[in-house]
Amino acid sequence: MSDERDIDGGAPREYCGLFGIYGHPEAVHKTYYGLYSLQHRGQESAGICSTNGSNLLAHRSMGQVGEIFTSDVLDSLKNPVAIGHVRYSTTGSSSIQNAQPLLFNYAAGPLAIAHNGNLVNNGQLRREFEARGSIFQTTTDSETIMHLLAQPWDGPEDERYIRALRQLRGAFSLLILTQKKMYAIRDRHAFRPLCIGSLDGTPVVASESCALDIVGAKYVRDVKAGEVVEFSEKGERSFFFPEKPETPAHCIFEHVYFARPDSRVFGENVHGVRMKLGRALAKEHPVTADIVVPIPDSGNDAALGFSHASGIPLDYGFVRNHYVGRTFIQPTQGARISGVGLKLNVIAEVVKDKRVVIVDDSVIRGTTSRGRVRLLRQAGAKEIHMRISCPPIAHPCFYGIDFPSPEELIASRLNVEEIRRHLDLDSLGFLSLEGLLSSVSEPKENYCTACYDGRYRVPVTEKFEKMQHERG
Ligand code: SF4
Repeated sequence: MSDERDIDGGAPREYCGLFGIYGHPEAVHKTYYGLYSLQHRGQESAGICSTNGSNLLAHRSMGQVGEIFTSDVLDSLKNPVAIGHVRYSTTGSSSIQNAQPLLFNYAAGPLAIAHNGNLVNNGQLRREFEARGSIFQTTTDSETIMHLLAQPWDGPEDERYIRALRQLRGAFSLLILTQKKMYAIRDRHAFRPLCIGSLDGTPVVASESCALDIVGAKYVRDVKAGEVVEFSEKGERSFFFPEKPETPAHCIFEHVYFARPDSRVFGENVHGVRMKLGRALAKEHPVTADIVVPIPDSGNDAALGFSHASGIPLDYGFVRNHYVGRTFIQPTQGARISGVGLKLNVIAEVVKDKRVVIVDDSVIRGTTSRGRVRLLRQAGAKEIHMRISCPPIAHPCFYGIDFPSPEELIASRLNVEEIRRHLDLDSLGFLSLEGLLSSVSEPKENYCTACYDGRYRVPVTEKFEKMQHERG
Protein backbone atom coordinates (compact mmCIF):
# COMPACT_ATOMS: atom_id res chain seq x y z
CA MET A 1 0.00 0.00 0.00
CA SER A 2 2.15 2.83 1.18
CA ASP A 3 5.61 1.76 0.10
CA GLU A 4 4.12 1.66 -3.35
CA ARG A 5 3.07 5.24 -2.86
CA ASP A 6 6.49 6.27 -1.61
CA ILE A 7 8.23 4.99 -4.63
CA ASP A 8 6.09 6.76 -7.16
CA GLY A 9 5.03 9.73 -5.12
CA GLY A 10 1.56 9.27 -6.49
CA ALA A 11 -0.49 9.50 -3.34
CA PRO A 12 -0.35 10.77 0.20
CA ARG A 13 1.63 8.74 2.64
CA GLU A 14 0.41 7.34 5.91
CA TYR A 15 1.03 9.15 9.05
CA CYS A 16 1.14 7.13 12.29
CA GLY A 17 -0.50 4.25 14.08
CA LEU A 18 -1.00 3.59 17.79
CA PHE A 19 -1.29 0.48 19.92
CA GLY A 20 -1.53 0.06 23.69
CA ILE A 21 -2.35 -2.65 26.21
CA TYR A 22 -2.85 -2.44 29.98
CA GLY A 23 -2.05 -5.33 32.29
CA HIS A 24 -0.95 -8.41 30.37
CA PRO A 25 2.15 -10.59 30.94
CA GLU A 26 2.85 -10.49 27.19
CA ALA A 27 2.02 -6.79 26.76
CA VAL A 28 5.23 -5.92 24.91
CA HIS A 29 5.00 -8.82 22.46
CA LYS A 30 1.32 -8.02 21.84
CA THR A 31 2.29 -4.43 21.13
CA TYR A 32 4.90 -5.62 18.65
CA TYR A 33 2.30 -7.66 16.75
CA GLY A 34 -0.20 -4.82 16.95
CA LEU A 35 2.33 -2.44 15.42
CA TYR A 36 3.14 -5.00 12.74
CA SER A 37 -0.46 -4.91 11.57
CA LEU A 38 -0.47 -1.09 11.65
CA GLN A 39 2.72 -0.83 9.58
CA HIS A 40 0.76 0.60 6.62
CA ARG A 41 0.19 3.76 8.71
CA GLY A 42 3.88 4.63 8.91
CA GLN A 43 7.19 3.08 7.88
CA GLU A 44 9.81 5.63 8.88
CA SER A 45 10.24 4.74 12.54
CA ALA A 46 8.65 2.76 15.34
CA GLY A 47 8.86 2.50 19.09
CA ILE A 48 7.50 0.76 22.17
CA CYS A 49 7.43 2.10 25.72
CA SER A 50 6.49 -0.11 28.69
CA THR A 51 6.12 0.18 32.45
CA ASN A 52 6.14 -2.06 35.49
CA GLY A 53 4.52 0.58 37.69
CA SER A 54 7.70 2.39 38.58
CA ASN A 55 10.01 2.76 35.58
CA LEU A 56 9.30 3.53 31.94
CA LEU A 57 11.45 1.65 29.41
CA ALA A 58 11.52 2.62 25.75
CA HIS A 59 13.07 1.51 22.49
CA ARG A 60 12.68 3.59 19.34
CA SER A 61 14.46 3.35 16.05
CA MET A 62 14.28 4.30 12.39
CA GLY A 63 12.92 1.63 10.09
CA GLN A 64 10.07 -0.85 10.10
CA VAL A 65 8.70 -2.89 12.99
CA GLY A 66 10.17 -6.19 11.81
CA GLU A 67 13.65 -4.67 11.47
CA ILE A 68 13.66 -2.78 14.76
CA PHE A 69 12.40 -5.26 17.34
CA THR A 70 14.45 -8.39 17.90
CA SER A 71 13.55 -10.92 20.59
CA ASP A 72 16.28 -9.44 22.79
CA VAL A 73 14.86 -5.94 22.45
CA LEU A 74 11.36 -7.14 23.27
CA ASP A 75 12.64 -9.10 26.29
CA SER A 76 14.48 -6.03 27.54
CA LEU A 77 11.20 -4.10 27.56
CA LYS A 78 9.16 -6.86 29.19
CA ASN A 79 6.51 -5.25 31.39
CA PRO A 80 2.73 -5.67 31.78
CA VAL A 81 1.75 -2.28 30.32
CA ALA A 82 2.95 -0.97 26.95
CA ILE A 83 2.21 1.56 24.22
CA GLY A 84 3.66 1.58 20.71
CA HIS A 85 3.81 3.81 17.67
CA VAL A 86 4.63 3.60 13.96
CA ARG A 87 5.45 6.89 12.31
CA TYR A 88 5.44 8.70 9.07
CA SER A 89 6.42 12.32 9.62
CA THR A 90 3.59 14.79 9.06
CA THR A 91 5.36 17.47 11.11
CA GLY A 92 9.07 17.56 11.76
CA SER A 93 11.76 15.61 10.01
CA SER A 94 12.16 11.87 9.72
CA SER A 95 14.78 11.38 12.42
CA ILE A 96 15.32 9.36 15.56
CA GLN A 97 14.75 12.39 17.81
CA ASN A 98 11.19 12.57 16.48
CA ALA A 99 10.49 8.83 16.67
CA GLN A 100 7.73 7.98 19.14
CA PRO A 101 6.63 7.25 21.84
CA LEU A 102 8.33 10.42 23.10
CA LEU A 103 9.56 9.95 26.67
CA PHE A 104 9.99 12.79 29.15
CA ASN A 105 10.44 13.37 32.85
CA TYR A 106 8.58 16.19 34.51
CA ALA A 107 7.70 17.11 38.12
CA ALA A 108 5.09 14.34 38.43
CA GLY A 109 7.38 11.63 37.01
CA PRO A 110 8.05 10.03 33.63
CA LEU A 111 5.49 10.24 30.83
CA ALA A 112 5.44 8.79 27.31
CA ILE A 113 3.25 10.02 24.47
CA ALA A 114 2.29 8.52 21.11
CA HIS A 115 0.37 10.78 18.72
CA ASN A 116 -1.50 10.40 15.43
CA GLY A 117 -2.71 13.62 13.77
CA ASN A 118 -1.65 17.23 13.35
CA LEU A 119 -2.23 20.23 15.57
CA VAL A 120 -3.16 23.38 13.66
CA ASN A 121 -2.17 25.76 16.49
CA ASN A 122 1.16 24.12 17.28
CA GLY A 123 3.24 27.05 16.01
CA GLN A 124 1.53 29.54 18.28
CA LEU A 125 1.68 27.28 21.36
CA ARG A 126 5.31 26.42 20.76
CA ARG A 127 6.30 30.06 20.29
CA GLU A 128 4.62 30.91 23.60
CA PHE A 129 6.55 28.16 25.38
CA GLU A 130 9.83 29.13 23.78
CA ALA A 131 9.27 32.79 24.70
CA ARG A 132 9.05 31.65 28.33
CA GLY A 133 12.31 29.73 28.03
CA SER A 134 11.08 26.19 27.39
CA ILE A 135 13.49 23.95 25.53
CA PHE A 136 12.13 21.57 22.90
CA GLN A 137 14.01 18.39 22.18
CA THR A 138 12.13 17.44 19.00
CA THR A 139 10.56 19.24 16.07
CA THR A 140 7.19 17.48 16.25
CA ASP A 141 3.91 18.97 17.41
CA SER A 142 3.52 16.01 19.79
CA GLU A 143 6.08 17.52 22.16
CA THR A 144 3.89 20.60 22.58
CA ILE A 145 1.20 18.38 24.12
CA MET A 146 3.83 17.14 26.55
CA HIS A 147 4.76 20.70 27.56
CA LEU A 148 1.09 21.54 28.17
CA LEU A 149 0.65 18.47 30.37
CA ALA A 150 3.80 19.32 32.33
CA GLN A 151 2.57 22.75 33.42
CA PRO A 152 2.59 23.19 37.21
CA TRP A 153 -0.73 22.02 38.65
CA ASP A 154 -1.72 21.06 42.19
CA GLY A 155 -5.34 20.12 41.54
CA PRO A 156 -6.96 16.83 40.52
CA GLU A 157 -5.11 14.90 37.80
CA ASP A 158 -8.16 14.91 35.50
CA GLU A 159 -8.01 18.70 35.49
CA ARG A 160 -4.39 18.61 34.35
CA TYR A 161 -5.52 16.76 31.22
CA ILE A 162 -8.60 18.89 30.67
CA ARG A 163 -6.64 22.15 30.93
CA ALA A 164 -3.95 20.92 28.54
CA LEU A 165 -6.20 19.27 25.95
CA ARG A 166 -8.58 22.23 25.74
CA GLN A 167 -5.77 24.33 24.33
CA LEU A 168 -5.15 22.02 21.38
CA ARG A 169 -6.75 22.62 17.99
CA GLY A 170 -6.70 20.09 15.18
CA ALA A 171 -6.37 16.34 15.01
CA PHE A 172 -4.98 14.12 17.73
CA SER A 173 -5.51 10.55 18.75
CA LEU A 174 -3.17 9.92 21.67
CA LEU A 175 -1.85 7.18 23.89
CA ILE A 176 -0.15 8.39 27.05
CA LEU A 177 1.71 6.22 29.51
CA THR A 178 2.66 7.15 33.08
CA GLN A 179 4.08 4.88 35.77
CA LYS A 180 0.66 3.73 36.90
CA LYS A 181 -1.78 4.62 34.12
CA MET A 182 -2.45 4.49 30.41
CA TYR A 183 -4.67 7.10 28.72
CA ALA A 184 -6.41 6.87 25.33
CA ILE A 185 -7.54 10.27 24.04
CA ARG A 186 -9.29 11.58 20.94
CA ASP A 187 -9.61 15.20 19.83
CA ARG A 188 -12.96 16.96 20.06
CA HIS A 189 -13.82 16.18 16.40
CA ALA A 190 -12.50 12.60 16.38
CA PHE A 191 -10.58 13.19 13.14
CA ARG A 192 -8.41 10.08 13.46
CA PRO A 193 -9.63 6.63 14.46
CA LEU A 194 -8.93 5.04 17.86
CA CYS A 195 -10.74 2.02 19.23
CA ILE A 196 -10.80 -0.07 22.39
CA GLY A 197 -10.82 -3.85 22.47
CA SER A 198 -10.75 -6.56 25.09
CA LEU A 199 -8.36 -9.48 25.27
CA ASP A 200 -10.12 -11.73 27.76
CA GLY A 201 -10.76 -8.69 29.91
CA THR A 202 -7.41 -6.95 29.29
CA PRO A 203 -7.98 -3.57 27.64
CA VAL A 204 -6.30 -3.01 24.28
CA VAL A 205 -6.32 0.25 22.29
CA ALA A 206 -5.46 0.60 18.60
CA SER A 207 -5.73 2.99 15.68
CA GLU A 208 -7.50 0.31 13.66
CA SER A 209 -9.33 -2.85 14.63
CA CYS A 210 -7.04 -5.00 12.45
CA ALA A 211 -4.48 -4.60 15.27
CA LEU A 212 -7.01 -5.95 17.77
CA ASP A 213 -7.62 -8.98 15.56
CA ILE A 214 -3.96 -9.86 15.33
CA VAL A 215 -3.59 -10.16 19.13
CA GLY A 216 -6.92 -11.97 19.54
CA ALA A 217 -8.75 -9.04 21.13
CA LYS A 218 -12.43 -8.30 20.46
CA TYR A 219 -13.52 -4.84 19.35
CA VAL A 220 -15.53 -3.12 22.10
CA ARG A 221 -16.02 0.49 21.02
CA ASP A 222 -14.41 3.62 19.59
CA VAL A 223 -12.92 6.22 21.92
CA LYS A 224 -15.43 9.07 21.62
CA ALA A 225 -14.80 12.59 20.39
CA GLY A 226 -13.24 14.61 23.22
CA GLU A 227 -12.97 11.57 25.50
CA VAL A 228 -10.10 10.70 27.82
CA VAL A 229 -10.18 7.02 28.80
CA GLU A 230 -8.01 6.18 31.79
CA PHE A 231 -6.79 2.64 32.42
CA SER A 232 -5.34 1.88 35.85
CA GLU A 233 -5.25 -0.84 38.49
CA LYS A 234 -8.71 0.34 39.49
CA GLY A 235 -10.06 -0.44 36.02
CA GLU A 236 -11.33 1.80 33.23
CA ARG A 237 -12.99 5.18 33.61
CA SER A 238 -13.46 8.12 31.30
CA PHE A 239 -14.15 11.84 31.21
CA PHE A 240 -14.49 14.50 28.51
CA PHE A 241 -12.30 17.55 28.08
CA PRO A 242 -14.16 19.92 25.67
CA GLU A 243 -16.24 22.75 27.10
CA LYS A 244 -19.19 21.50 25.03
CA PRO A 245 -19.78 18.58 22.63
CA GLU A 246 -18.69 19.24 19.05
CA THR A 247 -19.83 17.73 15.77
CA PRO A 248 -17.39 14.97 14.71
CA ALA A 249 -15.21 15.46 11.65
CA HIS A 250 -13.99 11.94 10.90
CA CYS A 251 -11.39 11.90 8.12
CA ILE A 252 -13.32 10.31 5.27
CA PHE A 253 -10.06 9.59 3.49
CA GLU A 254 -9.44 6.85 6.06
CA HIS A 255 -12.26 4.96 4.36
CA VAL A 256 -11.19 5.87 0.84
CA TYR A 257 -7.52 4.97 1.18
CA PHE A 258 -5.70 4.89 4.50
CA ALA A 259 -7.21 2.25 6.70
CA ARG A 260 -6.84 -1.45 6.00
CA PRO A 261 -9.92 -3.02 4.38
CA ASP A 262 -10.21 -5.56 7.20
CA SER A 263 -10.40 -2.77 9.79
CA ARG A 264 -13.43 -1.22 11.35
CA VAL A 265 -13.06 2.56 11.60
CA PHE A 266 -15.68 5.15 12.54
CA GLY A 267 -18.06 2.31 13.33
CA GLU A 268 -17.99 0.37 10.05
CA ASN A 269 -15.88 -2.03 8.02
CA VAL A 270 -13.59 -0.35 5.50
CA HIS A 271 -13.96 -3.05 2.84
CA GLY A 272 -17.75 -2.69 2.96
CA VAL A 273 -17.52 1.08 2.51
CA ARG A 274 -15.11 0.74 -0.42
CA MET A 275 -17.44 -1.75 -2.09
CA LYS A 276 -20.22 0.83 -1.79
CA LEU A 277 -17.94 3.51 -3.25
CA GLY A 278 -17.34 1.27 -6.27
CA ARG A 279 -21.04 0.61 -6.74
CA ALA A 280 -21.86 4.32 -6.50
CA LEU A 281 -19.08 5.05 -8.98
CA ALA A 282 -20.52 2.58 -11.49
CA LYS A 283 -23.92 4.27 -11.23
CA GLU A 284 -22.54 7.79 -11.57
CA HIS A 285 -20.11 7.04 -14.39
CA PRO A 286 -21.32 4.04 -16.40
CA VAL A 287 -19.12 2.82 -19.24
CA THR A 288 -19.17 0.11 -21.88
CA ALA A 289 -16.08 -2.02 -21.39
CA ASP A 290 -14.75 -5.59 -21.36
CA ILE A 291 -12.96 -5.75 -18.00
CA VAL A 292 -12.60 -3.90 -14.71
CA VAL A 293 -9.00 -3.79 -13.50
CA PRO A 294 -8.13 -2.65 -9.96
CA ILE A 295 -5.00 -0.76 -9.12
CA PRO A 296 -3.65 -3.04 -6.40
CA ASP A 297 -4.03 -2.87 -3.47
CA SER A 298 -5.85 0.37 -2.80
CA GLY A 299 -8.31 0.04 -5.71
CA ASN A 300 -9.23 -3.62 -5.09
CA ASP A 301 -12.40 -3.20 -3.04
CA ALA A 302 -13.89 -0.34 -5.06
CA ALA A 303 -13.15 -2.22 -8.30
CA LEU A 304 -15.05 -5.23 -6.99
CA GLY A 305 -18.02 -3.01 -6.13
CA PHE A 306 -17.80 -1.39 -9.57
CA SER A 307 -17.75 -4.80 -11.23
CA HIS A 308 -20.75 -6.06 -9.24
CA ALA A 309 -22.82 -2.98 -10.03
CA SER A 310 -21.87 -2.71 -13.70
CA GLY A 311 -21.84 -6.41 -14.55
CA ILE A 312 -18.41 -5.97 -16.18
CA PRO A 313 -16.10 -8.82 -15.11
CA LEU A 314 -13.15 -8.07 -12.84
CA ASP A 315 -9.70 -9.20 -13.87
CA TYR A 316 -6.20 -8.62 -12.57
CA GLY A 317 -4.36 -6.62 -15.19
CA PHE A 318 -1.67 -5.33 -12.86
CA VAL A 319 0.73 -7.35 -10.76
CA ARG A 320 2.34 -5.70 -7.82
CA ASN A 321 5.93 -6.25 -6.79
CA HIS A 322 5.68 -6.61 -3.01
CA TYR A 323 9.41 -6.41 -2.51
CA VAL A 324 10.03 -2.88 -3.66
CA GLY A 325 11.13 -1.16 -0.50
CA ARG A 326 12.14 2.16 0.86
CA THR A 327 15.61 1.79 -0.62
CA PHE A 328 14.19 2.97 -3.90
CA ILE A 329 12.49 6.07 -2.62
CA GLN A 330 13.85 9.05 -4.43
CA PRO A 331 12.49 12.57 -4.14
CA THR A 332 13.01 13.53 -7.77
CA GLN A 333 10.32 13.60 -10.41
CA GLY A 334 12.45 11.36 -12.61
CA ALA A 335 12.57 8.69 -9.93
CA ARG A 336 8.80 8.79 -9.54
CA ILE A 337 8.29 8.16 -13.20
CA SER A 338 10.74 5.28 -13.33
CA GLY A 339 9.20 3.83 -10.21
CA VAL A 340 5.82 3.16 -11.82
CA GLY A 341 6.83 0.09 -13.78
CA LEU A 342 9.06 -1.13 -10.99
CA LYS A 343 6.15 -1.34 -8.64
CA LEU A 344 3.30 -2.46 -10.88
CA ASN A 345 3.59 -4.45 -14.07
CA VAL A 346 0.87 -5.15 -16.64
CA ILE A 347 -0.25 -8.62 -17.69
CA ALA A 348 -0.45 -7.96 -21.41
CA GLU A 349 -2.54 -11.09 -22.09
CA VAL A 350 -5.30 -9.72 -19.85
CA VAL A 351 -5.61 -6.24 -21.34
CA LYS A 352 -4.60 -6.70 -25.02
CA ASP A 353 -7.35 -5.58 -27.41
CA LYS A 354 -9.72 -4.97 -24.47
CA ARG A 355 -11.72 -1.99 -23.37
CA VAL A 356 -10.37 -1.59 -19.85
CA VAL A 357 -11.81 0.27 -16.84
CA ILE A 358 -9.14 0.89 -14.23
CA VAL A 359 -10.36 1.71 -10.73
CA ASP A 360 -8.22 3.53 -8.19
CA ASP A 361 -8.80 5.41 -4.95
CA SER A 362 -7.38 8.81 -5.86
CA VAL A 363 -5.34 10.90 -8.27
CA ILE A 364 -2.86 13.14 -6.49
CA ARG A 365 -0.11 14.49 -8.74
CA GLY A 366 -1.15 12.51 -11.79
CA THR A 367 2.39 11.30 -12.45
CA THR A 368 1.72 7.74 -11.37
CA SER A 369 -1.61 7.42 -13.15
CA ARG A 370 -0.07 8.71 -16.36
CA GLY A 371 2.68 6.10 -16.13
CA ARG A 372 0.15 3.31 -15.62
CA VAL A 373 -1.95 4.40 -18.55
CA ARG A 374 1.18 4.36 -20.68
CA LEU A 375 1.92 0.81 -19.54
CA LEU A 376 -1.60 -0.28 -20.49
CA ARG A 377 -1.35 1.33 -23.95
CA GLN A 378 2.01 -0.34 -24.55
CA ALA A 379 0.41 -3.66 -23.59
CA GLY A 380 -2.24 -3.20 -26.29
CA ALA A 381 -5.36 -2.05 -24.39
CA LYS A 382 -7.93 -0.85 -26.93
CA GLU A 383 -9.62 1.73 -24.71
CA ILE A 384 -8.69 2.93 -21.21
CA HIS A 385 -11.30 4.36 -18.89
CA MET A 386 -10.41 5.47 -15.38
CA ARG A 387 -12.81 5.60 -12.44
CA ILE A 388 -11.75 7.12 -9.11
CA SER A 389 -13.61 6.25 -5.90
CA CYS A 390 -13.62 9.78 -4.45
CA PRO A 391 -13.86 13.37 -5.76
CA PRO A 392 -10.80 15.25 -7.06
CA ILE A 393 -8.43 16.23 -4.23
CA ALA A 394 -7.81 19.93 -4.75
CA HIS A 395 -7.01 21.23 -1.24
CA PRO A 396 -4.25 20.49 1.28
CA CYS A 397 -4.89 18.60 4.50
CA PHE A 398 -3.90 20.26 7.78
CA TYR A 399 -5.11 17.43 9.99
CA GLY A 400 -2.38 14.86 9.55
CA ILE A 401 -2.26 13.67 5.95
CA ASP A 402 0.85 14.50 3.98
CA PHE A 403 -0.58 15.59 0.65
CA PRO A 404 1.76 17.46 -1.65
CA SER A 405 1.56 21.25 -1.83
CA PRO A 406 -1.54 22.66 -3.60
CA GLU A 407 0.53 23.47 -6.70
CA GLU A 408 1.43 19.80 -7.01
CA LEU A 409 -2.15 18.55 -6.62
CA ILE A 410 -3.29 18.04 -10.20
CA ALA A 411 -6.95 18.79 -9.40
CA SER A 412 -6.05 22.21 -8.03
CA ARG A 413 -4.71 23.17 -11.48
CA LEU A 414 -6.81 21.22 -13.99
CA ASN A 415 -10.50 20.38 -14.40
CA VAL A 416 -11.65 16.80 -15.01
CA GLU A 417 -11.49 17.06 -18.81
CA GLU A 418 -8.00 18.56 -18.64
CA ILE A 419 -6.89 15.77 -16.30
CA ARG A 420 -8.36 13.20 -18.72
CA ARG A 421 -6.33 14.64 -21.57
CA HIS A 422 -3.20 14.91 -19.42
CA LEU A 423 -3.49 11.24 -18.45
CA ASP A 424 -4.27 10.18 -22.04
CA LEU A 425 -7.54 8.45 -21.08
CA ASP A 426 -10.60 7.65 -23.18
CA SER A 427 -12.79 8.67 -20.26
CA LEU A 428 -12.38 9.69 -16.65
CA GLY A 429 -14.93 9.78 -13.83
CA PHE A 430 -14.56 10.78 -10.17
CA LEU A 431 -17.14 9.81 -7.56
CA SER A 432 -19.10 12.88 -6.44
CA LEU A 433 -18.98 14.17 -2.88
CA GLU A 434 -22.64 13.16 -2.50
CA GLY A 435 -21.78 9.65 -3.71
CA LEU A 436 -18.91 9.47 -1.23
CA LEU A 437 -20.97 10.67 1.72
CA SER A 438 -23.90 8.40 0.88
CA SER A 439 -21.57 5.38 1.13
CA VAL A 440 -20.75 5.89 4.83
CA SER A 441 -23.18 5.34 7.67
CA GLU A 442 -22.96 8.41 9.88
CA PRO A 443 -24.69 11.71 8.98
CA LYS A 444 -22.67 13.55 6.35
CA GLU A 445 -21.87 16.48 8.68
CA ASN A 446 -19.88 14.04 10.84
CA TYR A 447 -17.09 13.73 8.25
CA CYS A 448 -14.23 16.00 7.25
CA THR A 449 -14.17 16.53 3.47
CA ALA A 450 -11.85 19.55 3.37
CA CYS A 451 -9.40 18.15 0.84
CA TYR A 452 -12.31 17.83 -1.62
CA ASP A 453 -14.38 20.93 -0.91
CA GLY A 454 -12.06 23.26 1.03
CA ARG A 455 -14.40 23.35 4.07
CA TYR A 456 -11.99 23.26 6.97
CA ARG A 457 -13.87 22.32 10.11
CA VAL A 458 -11.12 23.60 12.37
CA PRO A 459 -9.90 26.95 11.08
CA VAL A 460 -6.29 27.00 10.01
CA THR A 461 -4.92 30.35 11.06
CA GLU A 462 -1.21 29.75 10.85
CA LYS A 463 0.90 28.76 7.92
CA PHE A 464 1.76 25.08 8.19
CA GLU A 465 5.01 23.69 6.94
CA LYS A 466 6.17 20.20 7.71
CA MET A 467 9.68 21.35 8.57
CA GLN A 468 8.72 24.62 10.26
CA HIS A 469 10.57 23.84 13.48
CA GLU A 470 13.69 22.42 11.89
CA ARG A 471 16.83 24.43 12.49
CA GLY A 472 20.31 24.43 11.15
S1 SF4 B 1 -8.67 17.19 4.72
FE1 SF4 B 1 -9.06 15.19 3.71
S2 SF4 B 1 -7.35 13.90 4.35
FE2 SF4 B 1 -7.39 15.65 5.77
S3 SF4 B 1 -8.65 15.02 7.51
FE3 SF4 B 1 -10.02 16.01 6.08
S4 SF4 B 1 -10.82 14.32 4.77
FE4 SF4 B 1 -9.01 13.57 5.84
